[in-house]
Amino acid sequence: MSSFVSATKIINQAKAGKYAIAHFNINNLEWTKAILEIAQATKSPVILGVSEGAIKYMGGYDTIVGMTRGLVKDLNITVPVVLHLDHGQSVASCKAALAAGFSSVMFDGSHLSFNDNVKGTTEVVAYAKKFNASVEAEAGSIGGEEDGVIGLGEVADVQECLTLSKIGIDFLAAGINNVHGKYPQGWQGLKFDILANIAQASGKPLVLHGGSGIPKTQVEKAISLGISKVNVNTELQEVFAAAIRAYIISGKDQSDKGFDPRRIMKDGMEAIKQKAQELLAEFGSLGKA
Ligand SMILES: [Zn+2]
Repeated sequence: MSSFVSATKIINQAKAGKYAIAHFNINNLEWTKAILEIAQATKSPVILGVSEGAIKYMGGYDTIVGMTRGLVKDLNITVPVVLHLDHGQSVASCKAALAAGFSSVMFDGSHLSFNDNVKGTTEVVAYAKKFNASVEAEAGSIGGEEDGVIGLGEVADVQECLTLSKIGIDFLAAGINNVHGKYPQGWQGLKFDILANIAQASGKPLVLHGGSGIPKTQVEKAISLGISKVNVNTELQEVFAAAIRAYIISGKDQSDKGFDPRRIMKDGMEAIKQKAQELLAEFGSLGKA
């Protein structure tokens, strides 16, 4: 049995059940291990997202696949685990991830002309079929401005979402004034009317990027309107950094064998697990494996 599953089934189940699967970005072995352990302990399906930057950082596609596959086996992980390329910037990077063993890819053609976005997405969908892998597409942004109010996030075009939904993709990322990283001051909140329109027009499970720091009630409303996957990176980075900072500031690294990297990382990993469990509960996918 393969270590990883495509996201199609678990995301469609989430859509039907009106909850969302958590996509947690991974940055190293500790991150991956912590997330797999909490997913298993809480019987929750999980998507491990890996950005191109994180792939370069860790060594390459084969390193990620080998490390993650090994952890799934050695830790006896039985919940569904998706290994997903996050924001694949080119058809070539999507193909490389799939060939290496990723079970899902996002082709982010939002920076291209819409025609090229459709063309690239179509090519990735055809290639992914050979691996029974799932594909996430991203509709372009029409900018954060609506009715003369700058919303500070990105908002997708409903017509483009509809077109992308018809070319064999499994799920769709569409801007609804969400923001990657920290939310700026004066942010206007998610655009629920646009979300509802896109959900109805596309019929596809939708993905909320920039899931860190959106008020809980807005996330819950977004899920009720058709968001079936929520991407989280920054929020786990913040709790990890805070835990390690507290460890160092308290001087623990300078007493006994506190300089042991395994000890330095330990509190950070615990913080990731705790926050991940909170988010799984918030998204409604806790215990859904
Ligand atoms: Zn994203």
